[in-house]
Amino acid sequence: MNRNWRGILIRHLLLLVAACLLAGLISGSYGACLAIGLGLYLAWTLKQLLNLHDWLRDHKLDEPPPDGRGLWGEVFDSIYHLQRRDQRRRGRMQAVIDRIQESTAALKDAVIMLDADGNLEWWNRAAETLMGLKSPQDGGQPVTNLVRHPKFKEYFEQEHYLEPLEIPSPTNDRVRLQLHITRYGNNEHLMLVRDVTRIHQLEQMRKDFVANVSHELRTPLTVITGYLETLLDNVEEVNPRWVRALTQMSQQGSRMQTLLNDLLLLAKLEATDYPSDNQPVAVDRLLTTIVSDAQALSAGQQHRISLDAQPGVRLKGSESELRSAFSNLVFNAVKYTQAEGRIQVRWWTDSEGAHMSVQDSGPGIDPKHLPRLTERFYRVDSSRASNTGGTGLGLAITKHVLMRHRGRLEISSVPGHGSTFTCHFAPAQLATPRSAAMASSAGQDHSGH
Ligand code: ADP
Repeated sequence: MNRNWRGILIRHLLLLVAACLLAGLISGSYGACLAIGLGLYLAWTLKQLLNLHDWLRDHKLDEPPPDGRGLWGEVFDSIYHLQRRDQRRRGRMQAVIDRIQESTAALKDAVIMLDADGNLEWWNRAAETLMGLKSPQDGGQPVTNLVRHPKFKEYFEQEHYLEPLEIPSPTNDRVRLQLHITRYGNNEHLMLVRDVTRIHQLEQMRKDFVANVSHELRTPLTVITGYLETLLDNVEEVNPRWVRALTQMSQQGSRMQTLLNDLLLLAKLEATDYPSDNQPVAVDRLLTTIVSDAQALSAGQQHRISLDAQPGVRLKGSESELRSAFSNLVFNAVKYTQAEGRIQVRWWTDSEGAHMSVQDSGPGIDPKHLPRLTERFYRVDSSRASNTGGTGLGLAITKHVLMRHRGRLEISSVPGHGSTFTCHFAPAQLATPRSAAMASSAGQDHSGH
């Protein structure tokens, strides 16, 4: 196969020229013989080239190349082998693609591929049952035309998909789906959809259980604390040995009542996504009342509490929920900051939206606790929390309220120097156009305490 074709060709050519010269010697016409010889060689070469071209153009799969002689034969064979190798490779790749498609088709989770504009490119069988996609007519359609849940549109249009989204299935309301979008390649989207009905039901059972237990415990507890109060109101008639016990029982009873109230509030917050009493809330006024309550809570401890609130900015939402969220932060600052410590409450707007922050000069929080602080019953130091009478639910409530108001909580803290809790709200959550709010704030001084 790997013969030295250069040498062979030169030899053939020399032989041809020698034969032509010999014929020239015999016939006496060198030029004509040489021209005829070379012309015949050229014609043969062109014929081989034409054969190759015809074969390349018309040949069927596996049809061997035409017979060729010498170098041409080898060229035909090499092309043929290259083609066979290429076919084998393509076959192997097709087998891999088939296997991948078969395995994704067999998945219980839906896999959907969308182009950069969100049009459907490919999906597996589970996507047809879970999302109701129809093959082939839905191919090329925008996914937002087929999944019409308002939350999905909002989720899809955002650029970063950090958290998965839960929505009911477009085919069956009782099936709960969890969607996760990842971007890949040329800004295309890969959407994974899981049936999380069972997890959702369990989660719902947990919420219902906590809400029901809290509700059921409230009435007996009210009776017990009611009697305890009556007994303590008539303390002179009570055996002195029981007074201390009764006082402690009454204290713990009211602690349990606060706990149940917080649990019920959390259950209420979890039951829906958005507050039902949505109205513009004058946050500056709300903060003024919270700060004066905080001053009362501080009482003898003489915390220096200041408020710097931009007036005229209204936030769309529920006043009672926002009151709980903000007062938890302000009261925490009072509870955890040593006597005479400084607490600054601020409320302002900027290009990113509206912000409310509570900064204290308290003990601060070790960074390792920060990610877990908004978990239910999570406390940095349980002994200290019981002293402060906290339930461990305050920040969980704040976080939930903020989520319902398109907001988020940011916590920064330096141990030994104090903490800052900041609530950030999206511009869309403002009831007053920001420009108007800014103009009104420019005209007035910020109220302070
Ligand atoms: P609690 O009812 O115990 O205050 P929270 O959910 O409001 O529950 O707060 C959780 C924990 O976070 C608290 O137990 C406390 O350890 C810590 N914490 C909250 N606010 C502050 C603060 N301003 N300074 C220091 N620690 C704080």
